[in-house]
Amino acid sequence: MKKIVIAIDGFSSCGKSTMAKALARNVGYLYFDSGAMYRAVALYCLRNGLINGEQIDTEGLRAQLGNINITFEADPVTKNSITLLNGENVEHEIRSLEVSRLVSHVAALDFVRTEMVEQQRRMGKQKGIVMDGRDIGTTVFPDAELKIFVTASAEVRAQRRYDELKARGDNPDYNEILENVMERDRIDQTREVSPLKKADDALLLDNSNMTHAQQEAWLKEQFIAHTEC
Ligand code: C5P
Repeated sequence: MKKIVIAIDGFSSCGKSTMAKALARNVGYLYFDSGAMYRAVALYCLRNGLINGEQIDTEGLRAQLGNINITFEADPVTKNSITLLNGENVEHEIRSLEVSRLVSHVAALDFVRTEMVEQQRRMGKQKGIVMDGRDIGTTVFPDAELKIFVTASAEVRAQRRYDELKARGDNPDYNEILENVMERDRIDQTREVSPLKKADDALLLDNSNMTHAQQEAWLKEQFIAHTEC
């Protein structure tokens, strides 16, 4: 069976990473979370005084971008992918609302995207990967053999994010999350560099009313159809 690149793009909090991880596990591929890379850059900005009120110190960030090393490794116990920022496990911290509020602004900077896209392409060189994000099928891997564009209503997505944060012990506010989901959609779709949009050759998946099992079965079907030849 030939090895392929699978690109999963779509709106915030529509379960892309859950489905991408499950698919990678099921078919024995490596999983890469490109959003985690932008989140790690946002966290770096917060920690290093590169945010002034609402403003990002873009020149400061440009000068320090070379100091930001983002890698992934498997959690020895859960086997889930963990994001490392300069060697430190930041998987929990990059999911905070503070980072979520900042990340789309950081991800809209052209020099940040150029650097991340370059690193993502290196990760996909050997094929046999599943990567999720916003521009994987359009910009990072325009030749990916299987592209999926995922969507669900903003309310369903905010509820899922709320449940996720609650489950990890946070005390989230649903309305604040809904606002964040809609604001990120707006920024991601209207930015100048690589805006979020469905690639012409991507399959559309609206999972508002789908269970995880239904989704997994659908994905497996698509995988088989795109690797058999
Ligand atoms: O996927 P996740 O929601 O964790 O991504 C966080 C943010 O990173 C997104 O809201 C988007 O602004 C940005 N992002 C991006 N391009 C990607 C992945 C994520 O611009 N490929």
